[in-house]
Amino acid sequence: MFPCEKCGCCCRQIGKVFFAKSMALPDDSCKYLNKNTNLCTIYENRPIFCRVDDYYDKYYSKEMSRDEFYAQNKAICKKFQSNK
Ligand code: SF4
Ligand code: SF4
Repeated sequence: MFPCEKCGCCCRQIGKVFFAKSMALPDDSCKYLNKNTNLCTIYENRPIFCRVDDYYDKYYSKEMSRDEFYAQNKAICKKFQSNK
């Protein structure tokens, strides 16, 4: 499973992601984020682009290894974390 640190940084900036703007509040955070806990309030039903492992299985399993996909996603996490 992708080693998410549950920092909430991606969910707090989802409005910067062009295909996810419909989920964003005016401050760019996702309307489904609980800002007190950093947890997703629709976790079991969140979109596939919020599900690293499912996204990998569906779209990237023939393109690269899971570890490579994780590394790419971690690089994106670091960008979100440095922007907070
Ligand atoms: S930025 Fe990365 S580590 Fe932080 S909550 Fe999002 S996926 Fe998890
Ligand atoms: S749906 Fe959940 S996991 Fe996806 S950006 Fe919103 S709060 Fe984060």
